[in-house]
Amino acid sequence: MLIVMKLNAPRSDVERVKEKIRTLGFAPHEIPGEERLAIGVTGNKGKVDPELFLNLPGVLEAIPVTKPFKLVSRDVKAENSVIQIDGSRIGGRELTVIAGPCSVESRDQIIDLAFTLKNLGVRFLRGGAYKPRTSPYSFQGLKDEALIYLKEARDATGLRIVTEVKDTATLAAVAECADILQVGARNMHNYSLLEALGSVRKPVLLKRGFAATIEELLMSAEYILSGGNYNVILCERGIRTFETATRNTLDLNSIPIIKKLSHLPIIVDPSHGIGVWDGVTPMSLAAIAAGADGLIIEVHQDPAMALSDGYQSLKPSRFAQLLEKLGQLAPIMDRTLTRAFQNAGVAR
Ligand code: PEP
Ligand code: MN
Repeated sequence: MLIVMKLNAPRSDVERVKEKIRTLGFAPHEIPGEERLAIGVTGNKGKVDPELFLNLPGVLEAIPVTKPFKLVSRDVKAENSVIQIDGSRIGGRELTVIAGPCSVESRDQIIDLAFTLKNLGVRFLRGGAYKPRTSPYSFQGLKDEALIYLKEARDATGLRIVTEVKDTATLAAVAECADILQVGARNMHNYSLLEALGSVRKPVLLKRGFAATIEELLMSAEYILSGGNYNVILCERGIRTFETATRNTLDLNSIPIIKKLSHLPIIVDPSHGIGVWDGVTPMSLAAIAAGADGLIIEVHQDPAMALSDGYQSLKPSRFAQLLEKLGQLAPIMDRTLTRAFQNAGVAR
């Protein structure tokens, strides 16, 4: 159920509707729109009678929402959601580029790469601290040590940190370091983690599971929004198909479909999507051409020596070439790519 308030309905009317929702045992979610405020209702098992709300002052409409996801849906919010992070906006006209190594491998590696990326005008640094790996014998990340290096990298460069949260046990520590909490493909169905992220006040980058449908991805996002955290960025990172020539099949179809179904921003991870470095640039451009709001790209100083995902990582020089091409593509797609060169090259 979505309750749409009249234009300029006073705060007291909004509070009364929210109170009524709570009295019925459901949860109210305020959804500010460009013109009108709406209130989403969750927690109901069956249909809610619109008559319960139509007579309350300030209420314009009470619309039943029949989809299995509500708060993430365009039915509930027509305008695109824009996630604000310290002056950067994800999901607006501006394209977002997140770059960095698959894993934080050492203090020098991450700080050095952070400066290189800063000098290229990037604003968001990725780097795994807690790595959920398919094999227990693969590098599992430097964990808390990596979080310390990521904080240092942020303090030194001003880049914002994107790092993965692997489980609820480490959520508090990772949330203290991360500006954006990444939920990996393997954890898209980890409902305890998704529920916990509902009460965190940090944006979440939710990656699509490699065997998940678009609807399942949206329902995982719904877990986070229904918990009260509306700052969710979706990420298409490829799904598993019969094709073996590439690591995954990057499902660019999902972008226009998600844009139709949901108001949430969606970015693309071409690195995991194709799994080979020389495919990353074409798939990045294709993703932006398909309407994605940005990219998350693995970059490493020496991919051959990387402790994880080296074969799909770009060297900084190639990443710089990709940024140039993205800058050319952006206006064609009615987007902008602002590169934050100001204060770049800060002395270490
Ligand atoms: C990653 O970003 O390094 C990663 C592990 O991605 P995914 O969860 O998409 O496999
Ligand atoms: Mn990786």
